[in-house]
Amino acid sequence: KKKIAVMTSGGDSPGMSPAVRAVVRSGIYFGCDMFAVYEGYEGLVRGGDLLKKMEWEDVRGFLSHGGTDIGTARCAEFRERKGRLQGAYNMVVNGIDALVVCGGDGSLTGADLFRSEWPSLIEELVQTGRLTAAEAEPHRHLTIVGLVGSIDNDMAGTDATIGAYSALERISEMVDYIDETANSHSRAFVVEVMGRHCGWLGLMSGLSTGADYIFIPERPPKHGKWQDELKEICSRHRGYGKRNTTVIVAEGAIDDELQPITAETVKDVLVELGLDTRITTLGHVQRGGTAVAYDRMLSTLQGVEAVKAVLESTPDIPSPVIGIAENQIVRQPLVDSVRDTKMVATAIEAKDFDKAMSLRDSTFAE
Ligand code: ADP
Repeated sequence: KKKIAVMTSGGDSPGMSPAVRAVVRSGIYFGCDMFAVYEGYEGLVRGGDLLKKMEWEDVRGFLSHGGTDIGTARCAEFRERKGRLQGAYNMVVNGIDALVVCGGDGSLTGADLFRSEWPSLIEELVQTGRLTAAEAEPHRHLTIVGLVGSIDNDMAGTDATIGAYSALERISEMVDYIDETANSHSRAFVVEVMGRHCGWLGLMSGLSTGADYIFIPERPPKHGKWQDELKEICSRHRGYGKRNTTVIVAEGAIDDELQPITAETVKDVLVELGLDTRITTLGHVQRGGTAVAYDRMLSTLQGVEAVKAVLESTPDIPSPVIGIAENQIVRQPLVDSVRDTKMVATAIEAKDFDKAMSLRDSTFAE
């Protein structure tokens, strides 16, 4: 009987709990023993109570829960080989032969590394006498499947990450609230949104709320020139009779000389224009709340696909990550997805913004 563990790791996102539910229940449906690793890689390294057998009813209600019911953490030890060695030991002694990781770019990079090191970790555990050759034998190969859980929609190889549409919904709702008060007082608001190095939340929330101006890392404005352009555009919109001004600044916003553009610097420009300007940093409300229907659907379909991928895996198939492309649930090698995600960051560092934009998913690139 196959023993599969599911884990959520890195920054939480709405849809992680529904993903855990889907993995646990489809695993049971396909006749597997299912486990949850609590607290992300921390649970793998510490083992014990943090590795828990899961039954059908243990995930009841998860579909409508935000965040992750099995906890998540950032784990420094897992970045070291020693931590990963302990993780491998805990998996083997619990008989676990496959791991489904739902997390962001960092977590999936860690997962990819774990799988590539696996044979040498097992060998070391045998060499040092912590495992007997007989105990190690059924565990010479590790199956890892990735699910992309992130509000940032920053992972290559999928049009949408689990949680991105929930965060977008939350941001758009908050900007609508802000627009009401801005309208009343004829104010300007600079809204800072999350997304780390990815501008998807900034761009899509700007589109969804009709913002006057949007700052995202992939399409940076000209160094030293954007201030005048911002003033010109906001004045023009005011000239049309608009009483409010809304500017969205993505967390990773920069100019084309890679200088950070912050909500503060944007505010200063709007103040120079004579606008009564306030800053709202949305913060953690963006990742809070329950998952929107899209994320529940995405995590459920992808969770089932993840279990199928585990059951169909062989040592010669590279670890897959489950994505959605043109409305189809798809698998692709995790290494490719991790590599392509890094390419965006590299393109931005090299100031090749057209390339960065084209490497993002199709809706973004349009
Ligand atoms: P996210 O998955 O949301 O991008 P992080 O980047 O914080 O979040 O990664 C979550 C955890 O994944 C880290 O705390 C660490 O345990 C593990 N991890 C991240 N990057 C690596 C790496 N390069 N090698 C090993 N483990 C990693």
